[in-house]
Amino acid sequence: MVAPLDLLDVDTLLSDEERDIRALCRRVADDRVRPHVAGWYEDGTVPVRELAQEFGKLGLLGMHLTGYGCAGSSAVAYGLACMELEAADSGVRSLVSVQGSLAMYAIWRFGSEDQKQRWLPGMAAGELIGCFGLTEPDHGSDPATMATRARRDGGDWILDGGKMWITNAPVADVAVIWARAEEGVVGFAVPTDTPGFAAREIKHKMSLRASSTGEITLDGVRLPDSARLPEARGLKAPLSCLTEARFGIIWGAMGAARDCLTVALDYATTREQFGRPIGGFQLTQAKLADMALELQKGYLLALHLGRLRDASGALRPEQVSVGKLNNVREAIAIARTCRTILGGNGISGEYPVMRHANNLESVLTYEGTSEIHQLVIGQKLTGLNAFA
Ligand SMILES: Cc1cc2nc3c(=O)[nH]c(=O)nc-3n(C[C@H](O)[C@H](O)[C@H](O)COP(=O)(O)OP(=O)(O)OC[C@H]3O[C@@H](n4cnc5c(N)ncnc54)[C@H](O)[C@@H]3O)c2cc1C
Repeated sequence: MVAPLDLLDVDTLLSDEERDIRALCRRVADDRVRPHVAGWYEDGTVPVRELAQEFGKLGLLGMHLTGYGCAGSSAVAYGLACMELEAADSGVRSLVSVQGSLAMYAIWRFGSEDQKQRWLPGMAAGELIGCFGLTEPDHGSDPATMATRARRDGGDWILDGGKMWITNAPVADVAVIWARAEEGVVGFAVPTDTPGFAAREIKHKMSLRASSTGEITLDGVRLPDSARLPEARGLKAPLSCLTEARFGIIWGAMGAARDCLTVALDYATTREQFGRPIGGFQLTQAKLADMALELQKGYLLALHLGRLRDASGALRPEQVSVGKLNNVREAIAIARTCRTILGGNGISGEYPVMRHANNLESVLTYEGTSEIHQLVIGQKLTGLNAFA
């Protein structure tokens, strides 16, 4: 947290090592992302491979995993990295989340030893890019109804279907693909040069523009059984990967919100109207005070969940839902309010606020929409399933 925004001295709850990791991530975000990200956003491009190699050298890819070239850091350290990267741009944090928490985690948790040796060291180094294909054009919030099929053909498998909105897909070397087979949902580590696999870049996004997003088609993709993730059994396998990735979002969203508030605070103390700084008006101070409260509460929530996870090894899905629902909802509210403080400049790409606000629209939707997290929490509270 940037000191003036840390009203409660939450930073004092971090260890020296955690502060060092945060400083390193802040430096890489400042040096490698911030100077370029407005241009990437405007152009709708991002140098995924260059960034991945840079992040790989620093141990940021799959950093909370152990072995196979992964850094084995704590959950809190990983969260702080997500916070600093997303303070620069949600798209860049998405690159790291999808690589580490979705694609690498799926292989690390459910893969064979051969699959781990084949993919993980290169992915940790940023030499190989991974993606995670669960969502389909007609099946988003309800992946249990997925239409992509895996059928056995002798010793091989044949995949047919398609995946939509898949981060990193157009540049990926390996795609973790979830499909329905006779025995239920199964997962595969699919080399993207396999005949029948194609990934098309999704254009015209108004959000997360500094991120590569693709639509995957699977047309008779033949794979040996050794490509199947042997430990993944049923839908709970991909859902457990989502729980992993949602943890990073809980922290990341607060990074985007912090960046907006930092900019708005600076603007409010320097921009004058009616002969005085706009930060001197009570209505502006009310906005700033309310946003600072939510930022601190969100940071505390992220830190609490991180400490809980470091102590217990895992969070329950509803605990992650509390964090994702609250922090993304508050982050988007902070970004929109900061936008108002910047007036006309608030809509300009010269400032990061509108970019963050637009990015957070995607963050609100992916990894479970707000409504889905409300239903997870509601089911835990009542014991009643209101999903269908
Ligand atoms: C930029 C971006 C990147 C993404 N990256 C990935 C990725 O890497 N891999 C991947 O697999 N997916 C990815 N996604 C997909 C994302 O996870 C889905 O968009 C999300 O799960 C929602 O699915 P949907 O878009 O089909 O919306 P739908 O499921 O059709 O939902 C539409 C609306 O209906 C509401 N709704 C649905 N069901 C209920 C219900 N039971 N009760 C109340 N309301 C309900 C939703 O909350 C939402 O408001 C990405 C999406 C975006 C935008």
